[in-house]
Amino acid sequence: MPAHPKYPHLFAPLDLGFTQLKNRILMGSMHTGLEEVDGGFERLAAYFAERARGGVGMMITGGISPNEEGGMGSEMSSPAHAAQHRLITQAVHEVDPAVKICMQILHAGALAETPKLVAPSAVRSRLSPLTPNELDEAGVQKQINDHVNCAKMAQLAGYDGVEIIGSAGYLLSTFLVEKTNRRTDQWGGSYENRMRFPLEIMRRCRAELGTNFILIFRIAAMDMLQGGMSWQEVVALGKAMEEAGATIISTHFTWHESTVPTIATMVPRAAFTEVTGRLRAQLSIPTITSNRINMPDVAEQVLRDGHADIVSMARPMLADPDLAIKAYEGREDEINTCIACNQACLDHGFGGLEVSCLVNPRACHETQLNYLPSTSHKTIAVVGAGPAGLAYATVAAQRGHRVTLFDAAAEIGGQFNLAKKIPGKEEFYETLRYYRRMLDIHKVDLRLNTRVDAEQLRAGGYQEIVIATGITPRRPEIEGIDHPSVVSYIDVIRGTAAVGKRVAVMGAGGIGFDVSELLMHSGVSAALDKEVFAREWGVDFKNHPRGGVTGVVPQVEKADRQLYLLQRKATPVGRGLGKTTGWTHRLSLTKRGVVMMNGLDYRKIDDSGLHISIAGQEHVLAVDTVVVCAGQTPQRDLYDQLLESGLSVSLIGGAFEATELDAKAAIKQASYLAASV
Ligand code: FAD
Ligand code: NAP
Ligand code: SF4
Repeated sequence: MPAHPKYPHLFAPLDLGFTQLKNRILMGSMHTGLEEVDGGFERLAAYFAERARGGVGMMITGGISPNEEGGMGSEMSSPAHAAQHRLITQAVHEVDPAVKICMQILHAGALAETPKLVAPSAVRSRLSPLTPNELDEAGVQKQINDHVNCAKMAQLAGYDGVEIIGSAGYLLSTFLVEKTNRRTDQWGGSYENRMRFPLEIMRRCRAELGTNFILIFRIAAMDMLQGGMSWQEVVALGKAMEEAGATIISTHFTWHESTVPTIATMVPRAAFTEVTGRLRAQLSIPTITSNRINMPDVAEQVLRDGHADIVSMARPMLADPDLAIKAYEGREDEINTCIACNQACLDHGFGGLEVSCLVNPRACHETQLNYLPSTSHKTIAVVGAGPAGLAYATVAAQRGHRVTLFDAAAEIGGQFNLAKKIPGKEEFYETLRYYRRMLDIHKVDLRLNTRVDAEQLRAGGYQEIVIATGITPRRPEIEGIDHPSVVSYIDVIRGTAAVGKRVAVMGAGGIGFDVSELLMHSGVSAALDKEVFAREWGVDFKNHPRGGVTGVVPQVEKADRQLYLLQRKATPVGRGLGKTTGWTHRLSLTKRGVVMMNGLDYRKIDDSGLHISIAGQEHVLAVDTVVVCAGQTPQRDLYDQLLESGLSVSLIGGAFEATELDAKAAIKQASYLAASV
């Protein structure tokens, strides 16, 4: 077959000897939580089949435990388990027998959520309340046997292979590093001994599963731990795994307890791939690279640079199951890009909720939310082209309705036009690019610079009216709130308000954090420049000290400003932020010297600054600017006026509920409503 003209590397097949991958696009492992819900395997089958139809070359399931001790999600240890998984493998291979699907074997070790948890030594992870039980010799052998049995059951289930995770702080990786392996027997001490456990699993799997089964080993190529694995150790493990029978080495870049962000939206695209490239040069089997590769041009560049043989795009496949086929057909502007927010995927996964995607609420809900052609073709007016209005308008129009979308502003996007200006949130541009294209494709009649009122809507004769007018920023009733030093976050982000050198940010929700990030930022956004990111977070990609970070002192560029980030609640500042990203935002501001204060009351604002009281004590923060980020209230006057006229009118997004409402809730609510109109 001739090479693809635009993506010759991405769409080149890869020969694995006994089989072939049809292209270099992999959907990496993601825990969906579906294995544990009623009818979950049917839903998983639909989820994977949809991505197989979308043109992916290979997929890896979420982590499955080989036994009870490995407890994190569901287990694969018996033919009965294999029978459940067969639904998945059959569905995928029915769509396209050339698409490979492998099961990830994940033994959580010291991170397992069971009192039976085991580890090489009784060393508790700082992320777990439980101290693991130290394995004795018989216990080590049992764990090896259980891994091999799990792989056999995966083969029985029809998987094309397994990925064995040897990173992230899970069982296998804790054998590799001294801080979690304090053994003095053949499984601890020298590096040769510490490698023995993962190698033994690989050797035994290869011996018992035969030569025609894909065995992937996931290695922590940079574990981001002080005192973590050295580069020599990483290479030695990669080579030994190759000898032990691995088909592919997949690179991973963290342990969960690391304090360097590796997949959040503030991480530059493809930041870590050069590390895979260095390892690839030392091996003769193919390598997989990953992390923040979210568009086909980025993936092609990674392969062209020789950084890997296969590119893992995990979350991007939640955001758009058709990513591969759209790239193949030159429809890149139709890709719904993963913005690396983690809000509906990892935050849900780690929070015990069903995984989905902020920009694609169908993800993991393929049997529940479908945009089927409508039998009626209604005329629909949507007011407001923020995330809620955009999602509603595009889904309804895709289904065949005739949609007119109004917005008072000169561009679509609503508050996303503010979000995209925050350093580290540049990916939000992509969501707006996607919606702009969808409006065109589905022929939505877009009327910008058009503030509509109830009279116009009544006169329009629409069969359905959807109000998505968003919010009004809350203006707290505090003495001096009209003082010239007080500004709204909207004007600060738009750059239309002057901000002094001493600033108080009133309200520490998501927007308070974002505004603080913007005001304390200086220079190029770390999300756009790998060197800046490396300096800011103390990573050395070139010299690769232990873990990639040991002894590297972070150097943060910051604005010449003093900033107080304030909240009235007594809970720690930033507690309400995303489970998997909140710490990165807190750390970023702490590095920039932001003072976070909680449990306070606002008294007044005057020429001397912001007066507050904490535990009955009065203080004055001598600031020259107070930025109000005190939440929002719904903007729904239009809705109330239209209801009175008896028209069929619905309310969505921030206009429906402003408290705790984010784009995830807005897009989801709008999509479900538009799917049923
Ligand atoms: P909006 O986005 O407010 O859109 C409403 C639209 O209606 C506007 O475009 C407005 O011009 C238009 N409109 C209003 N009245 C009329 C009228 N009468 N006629 C015509 N048009 C009208 N959420 C997240 O989930 N994750 C984040 O990381 C995140 N970051 C954010 C960062 C910032 C700085 C900000 C400000 C918000 C952020 N949000 C984030 C919140 C998210 O943007 C909102 O939840 C979301 O935009 C709400 O969508 P919406 O469509 O309901 O309203
Ligand atoms: P928010 O998260 O509700 O925070 C509002 C803040 O204002 C709170 O800290 C609150 O804390 C304070 N506040 C409320 N009423 C006040 C009053 N009367 N006087 C003074 N302070 C008051 O809202 P937001 O920051 O405006 O964000 C809006 C939405 O966008 C949220 O749903 C948020 O999740 C989303 N968003 C998400 C992200 C993200 O990264 N995921 C980023 C930005 C925005 P106290 O009452 O304790 O002071
Ligand atoms: Fe990407 Fe956010 Fe969707 Fe997760 S929720 S897949 S990070 S866009």
